[in-house]
Amino acid sequence: MRTDDPGLRRSFFLSLVLSLVALLMAAGPLFGDTNQRQVTKLADGVYAIEHKDLNDGSPSGNTTVIIGDREVFVVDSCYLPSSAREDIAQIRQWTDKPVGYLLNTHFHNDHNNGNKSYMDAFPSLAIVAQEETKQDMDLIQPGNIERGPKQLTTTIAAFREGKDQQGRALSEDDKKQVHDILPGLEQRLAEFKTLVYQPPTLTFTDKLDINIGNREVQVKHLGRGNTPGDTIVYLPKEKILVAGDLLVYPVPYTYDGYPAEWVQTLQRMAQLDAGTIVPGHGPILHDKAYLYLVTDLLKSAVEQVRGRIRVIGHPGAHSLEDVKGSVDLTPFRQRFAGDDKDVQAEFDDMTGHLVKIAFNEAALR
Ligand SMILES: [Zn+2]
Repeated sequence: MRTDDPGLRRSFFLSLVLSLVALLMAAGPLFGDTNQRQVTKLADGVYAIEHKDLNDGSPSGNTTVIIGDREVFVVDSCYLPSSAREDIAQIRQWTDKPVGYLLNTHFHNDHNNGNKSYMDAFPSLAIVAQEETKQDMDLIQPGNIERGPKQLTTTIAAFREGKDQQGRALSEDDKKQVHDILPGLEQRLAEFKTLVYQPPTLTFTDKLDINIGNREVQVKHLGRGNTPGDTIVYLPKEKILVAGDLLVYPVPYTYDGYPAEWVQTLQRMAQLDAGTIVPGHGPILHDKAYLYLVTDLLKSAVEQVRGRIRVIGHPGAHSLEDVKGSVDLTPFRQRFAGDDKDVQAEFDDMTGHLVKIAFNEAALR
């Protein structure tokens, strides 16, 4: 979903409400065409779950399940509690060991709305987050949960009257699409009314190494990137890296973040010996090619923005308008999107936001 307000993120419920109609006009799903829940075995006792995007295109983050001899470590609890419960049921088929740890890789709610479902299922659970992530969740998530049902109720009422949220009449094409997604929205409303904020219960600053029984799980904050508290999980023996939204495939998530620091964080990540990478969204990656590609893109955006600032002077005295015309990221378009028109459109939208956050970051230095 697209929004120009940095406070509203694609993954947030609020952005769903505000941009639902815009999204309905988009040509297709945001993360490729394979919109199915998919489970991939990464190693013995290690699984990645890609969740289905919702019928309005809202994405839900990937979940990774790591099973040790004593307990289970889960990375991210996804967007819908019903999906989290489905994952929990599947974990119980894989093992009778309890989930001892649930890590939230960052504060976006498409990665942690399911926290309460895990806590209900495993009351001795520790929910782990980097301290900045917990602070952001404490600040933002209770309001999301309170506003969500009200805004969705208003949206559904408008749609039922053939209007969008601004009261404008929907076209006949939009009406057909609205008709198709309304049952799903009703279901979502019922589910969101039951949401309860479950904050992390265990925070860390830089790293946390946990042995869950014959299996070492390394939790690392390698620096800021997509959010202030981005965290990755690394399994040294299995050479598996779980990246959170520091890596989102096929197009990075740049609606907020710190591109210059993000480059450094990705460079640190690239130093880890990993043959399998689970991105925050999208299919499992089997080499570092995409990691390098995203690093190069962010680096290019940062360098071009800085190059322009060298010419015009202190960014505090300028606006984004004075910079964005000088930044050209189209050489990366083909490498990200190939000939896929939908991904090309997503790429173009993303780069606009990337230049904006690169300029904001430079102005705040
Ligand atoms: Zn996400």
